[in-house]
Amino acid sequence: MQVPAPFDYVRATSVEHALELLDSHGEEARIIAGGHSLLPMMKLRLARPDWIIDINDVAELDHVTEDGDRLRIGALTRHATLLSSELIGRLFPIVHDAERVIADPVVRNRGTIGGSLGQADPAEDLTTVCDVLGAEVVIANRSGTRVVDMAEFHRGPYETACAQHELVTEIRLPIRAGQASAYEKVERRVGDWAVAAAGASLVLADDGTIADAAIGLTAVGLEGLAVEAAAVLIGQLPGEEIFADAGRLAAEASSPVEDGRGPVDYKRHLADELTRRVLRTAATRAGALADV
Ligand SMILES: Cc1cc2nc3c(=O)[nH]c(=O)nc-3n(C[C@H](O)[C@H](O)[C@H](O)COP(=O)(O)OP(=O)(O)OC[C@H]3O[C@@H](n4cnc5c(N)ncnc54)[C@H](O)[C@@H]3O)c2cc1C
Repeated sequence: MQVPAPFDYVRATSVEHALELLDSHGEEARIIAGGHSLLPMMKLRLARPDWIIDINDVAELDHVTEDGDRLRIGALTRHATLLSSELIGRLFPIVHDAERVIADPVVRNRGTIGGSLGQADPAEDLTTVCDVLGAEVVIANRSGTRVVDMAEFHRGPYETACAQHELVTEIRLPIRAGQASAYEKVERRVGDWAVAAAGASLVLADDGTIADAAIGLTAVGLEGLAVEAAAVLIGQLPGEEIFADAGRLAAEASSPVEDGRGPVDYKRHLADELTRRVLRTAATRAGALADV
């Protein structure tokens, strides 16, 4: 099925207007941002909204703002904007690592961070990035806004805390001194979804030990962070031995399924290997390991 079912279309001009439209058009209304996930779903008849509410004119949702100890990213910010932002690359290199391997320029020019998190595809890269960075998600409804952390926002495959009548307006990333991060993905061909991917963030103390760590995996059946894998790093100096322990534990925490992208053993091997690599890269970026 390559043609969507009939639907009506309306453009929102502000957040308030989008929320009004969501309310007035009821259960069968859906927000469209980049459309790179929703439209394929509609063509496959996996989604059949009666109304599409287009938020592409809502300029207040498109911004990248450094605000004290956090970076605020509007939900309508495109992949391409994230990738070209010098500020994001400096504060959160993991975002650039991930964006370089998300789809292709056509998708990146249109697709948004709000749509990516809103779609909550199990192979979607920015959810892992936001998990690892301890992001908060701002959700608006007609009564006001609420802020949820990623553990609360991401409820599982294709399911989030954003209700049908609500809108994701902003993603907030905490800026932490001594933090470094990295993301690496294995894909079958350039621009494809992940066979597996890993992301890591390290915060180093003044004495060079790891004060905080977070590890996330993409497309291998881990919801949220690999908490036990990250725990073995705390209080240690960065190094191959503890990275190997963390990689093994991250692979054990994963729960991949066999599909066209590979068998379970291969994906688990990737979870292990990619975890070690992103920890190595993050530690190198933090200045704790020599760049080789
Ligand atoms: C060929 C192709 C390859 C791709 N490869 C990758 C890849 O390798 N890695 C990857 O991570 N992604 C990949 N994507 C997905 C891409 O990143 C999309 O841009 C993203 O999934 C959805 O963003 P969007 O803005 O297009 O969302 P849309 O399709 O517009 O919306 C997706 C969902 O989110 C909801 N939504 C959108 N914005 C909001 C909001 N502000 N508040 C509440 N709900 C909202 C919509 O109602 C819909 O349910 C690929 C897509 C394509 C077409």
